[in-house]
Amino acid sequence: MIITINTDADSSTRSELLSLLSQLSGGRPPTCTKIDGREVICLEARQYDAQAEHILRQHRAVARITPITTPYKLVSRAFKAEQSSVIVGEERGITPLVIGGANASPVIMAGPCAVENRNQLLSTARAVKAAGAQILRGGAFKPRTSPYQFQGLGVEGLELLAEAREQTGLPVITEVMEPDMVETVARYADILQIGSRNMQNFPLLLAAGRNSLQRPVMLKRGLASTIEEWLLAAEYIVAAGNPHVILCERGIRSFDPQTRNLLDLSCVPLLHELTHLPIIVDPSHATGRRELVPTMSRAAIAAGAEGLILEVHPEPDSALCDGRQSITPDQLQGIIREARLLAQMMGGQTALTCVA
Ligand code: PEP
Ligand code: MN
Repeated sequence: MIITINTDADSSTRSELLSLLSQLSGGRPPTCTKIDGREVICLEARQYDAQAEHILRQHRAVARITPITTPYKLVSRAFKAEQSSVIVGEERGITPLVIGGANASPVIMAGPCAVENRNQLLSTARAVKAAGAQILRGGAFKPRTSPYQFQGLGVEGLELLAEAREQTGLPVITEVMEPDMVETVARYADILQIGSRNMQNFPLLLAAGRNSLQRPVMLKRGLASTIEEWLLAAEYIVAAGNPHVILCERGIRSFDPQTRNLLDLSCVPLLHELTHLPIIVDPSHATGRRELVPTMSRAAIAAGAEGLILEVHPEPDSALCDGRQSITPDQLQGIIREARLLAQMMGGQTALTCVA
């Protein structure tokens, strides 16, 4: 269940409720989370019985009890029926952008896999903007499979991303890999990305909830994670204090090496039933082949995704990272045109309206 605390409760009634909840949890103090200005506390089913529920329902400090049967709670549709939207770039003086929500059109994030140098980043930033992208992507800290591969430019890459934002007005998304770097990355980035390999890095999730300066966090699905594990990872961030979470489907491990991963598009309508969080699809990492990216981009929008994240490089074949799946700015322009047309044809039939 989720207990919403009465905003009018005086401090002694509130403390009484907290000590009651602490008793129910075997002496562990309950974790309070602020969501939309209201304090909430989540309890697992094993923490209370019918009698305890009755007492809680009568308590003066309790405004509302929402029964939730799933292990993830704050991110569930049962807790919040309306689709959440995430606002990007609000405090930077650039035009804020809305991801998700009832009528938002699909948002396109595009840019290189890795920030390689100033010229590569700035020219790609200008090109993706001209093609119609609304957010610039670029990895400064790269989680590479081999220690001998290009690991990213680190803080220098973050500075280049900030310069690209300055020049183009595009908000930027970049990956954070370590809990201690969350605040630094949040100072430069407009959206923090938690990569597939770190989806269950719990200290990182907690840091993204606590220290990300309330920047939106895009949580990519783990290489072989179930939807429940993914939603529980999102729950960590929200419960730790940052409700601005976006999910990103980027393909899961499968048996066939023909594609890099298997794009699980059925997760998009399914997630729209289970959660109120917006969902972005990454056809680049999902397929690993640039020739499949346009078709799977269309398919993702048709499935109801709130947006796409695409790897774009001016010279894909000489990219330091993920060139095989990178498209050119010209190809991006075609994908964006099709995505917008498709979204118009669907007439806002994404997200909530897809739920039967
Ligand atoms: C990326 O987006 O650059 C990336 C490394 O993706 P993933 O975590 O999905 O592999
Ligand atoms: Mn990549």
